[in-house]
Amino acid sequence: MERPSVMPEPRPTNWARNITFSATEVHRPTSPDELLALVTKSPHVRVLGSGHSFNRIADVDADRGGVLVSLSGLPAGIDIDSTARTVRVGGGVRYADLAAVLHAHGLALPNMASLPHISVAGSVATGTHGSGNANKSLAGAVRAVEILTGTGEIITPARGDEGFEGAVVSLGALGVVLSLTLDVEPDYEVSQHVFRELPFQGLDFAAVTSSAYSVSLFTTWQAPRFDQVWVKQRHPLPVDFPWAEPATEKQHPVPGMPAVNCTEQFGVPGPWHERLPHFRAEFTPSSGEELQSEYLLPREHAQAALAALDAVRDRIASVLQVCEVRTVAADAQWLSPAYGRDTVAFHFTWVADTERVLPIVSLVEDRLREFDPRPHWGKVFTAAPERVVTRYPRAAAFAALARRLDPEGKFGNAFVRALFDR
Ligand SMILES: Cc1cc2nc3c(=O)[nH]c(=O)nc-3n(C[C@H](O)[C@H](O)[C@H](O)COP(=O)(O)OP(=O)(O)OC[C@H]3O[C@@H](n4cnc5c(N)ncnc54)[C@H](O)[C@@H]3O)c2cc1C
Repeated sequence: MERPSVMPEPRPTNWARNITFSATEVHRPTSPDELLALVTKSPHVRVLGSGHSFNRIADVDADRGGVLVSLSGLPAGIDIDSTARTVRVGGGVRYADLAAVLHAHGLALPNMASLPHISVAGSVATGTHGSGNANKSLAGAVRAVEILTGTGEIITPARGDEGFEGAVVSLGALGVVLSLTLDVEPDYEVSQHVFRELPFQGLDFAAVTSSAYSVSLFTTWQAPRFDQVWVKQRHPLPVDFPWAEPATEKQHPVPGMPAVNCTEQFGVPGPWHERLPHFRAEFTPSSGEELQSEYLLPREHAQAALAALDAVRDRIASVLQVCEVRTVAADAQWLSPAYGRDTVAFHFTWVADTERVLPIVSLVEDRLREFDPRPHWGKVFTAAPERVVTRYPRAAAFAALARRLDPEGKFGNAFVRALFDR
């Protein structure tokens, strides 16, 4: 008699599917007690957010039988305090869900990343950012963070407490982030305009990026110009952008992708959460078949870095879908790539071909080296961890915090250990 064949369950992967996690499954506890029991009995744990990182930052160690846990099955725990102007949000919640609740209550966040699909805890843990000369990374909105640490304690460091700045951009290495308390402000509207073909020659980067609340410049590096500039302005402030012509059709930043996936353009004012991200929550963000890298450097080097990359434009273009240049305000989070310096970020959406892309990632790193670049923690980079860590003045303080909160290294992994011996 023929036996029915049992196919092994495929291992979980990240969103981009370039990483197959070392764990065979993702545990999804449905109550805080179940989560606590799982974490307590497991010697090695990593929390997976929405899996939008492109490297092994969220993975468990292959040789330690680690448990990968998602908090997406727990109650969202979105709790607004109108008097304090804050919202408390559970560790598994995505920005799209949080934004809808805030908007329904007449409230808003100061900024968002290019997509609302990502989890708040996972984004904050990697220093994820949007754009805007005066806008900090998303971690800048965090007022308190509730962490189940490696010693089994639950702690809630808040802004002003000693060590708070080390506990927010945590790379998942301090414990399970059970909730975050974020600053909110009154609901506002944003209008979004897209302009076409801004040449590098004669570019006044500071003037362009200070022309609105949030400015993103896109180039395919096929020519020495930005093909698109996305300008997001808080309504009813006007947009004055004399350097390029407005687009006459709705745009997607990635060539060939449908513009319907993108948020409303042509200056039509709308709610903050439907304009600040480039991509709509109900659609695939970006191209969906891709790798990403990003480097954050002191903003004063923006034009010199642009010239350094322009010199190898053809090689970058050979594996690129699109490159986005944005600005981020300095913050005080120890591991934030914008720590202590007003920043310009060079982002690359590559083709989904690791073998072809990695040599160009190294080339980009070589070209940017003199500008002291910090790679995005959640994206592909080839720089040696021991070199990366020297770019963070408070790295030793973070390592000490991690040792105190997680003495056994329950929440460390190979990615984190290579940086901080955790
Ligand atoms: C299409 C696309 C567009 C993107 N756009 C941007 C952008 O505009 N700006 C930008 O800066 N980045 C961007 N990114 C990168 C992305 O924001 C980061 O990779 C971010 O970390 C994703 O959040 P996540 O929830 O998927 O995190 P994951 O990849 O799931 O996890 C990241 C880290 O957070 C930890 N973590 C997650 N949840 C918890 C928790 N509850 N407790 C403890 N640790 C936790 C994990 O252990 C891991 O170390 C983009 C990525 C994609 C795929």
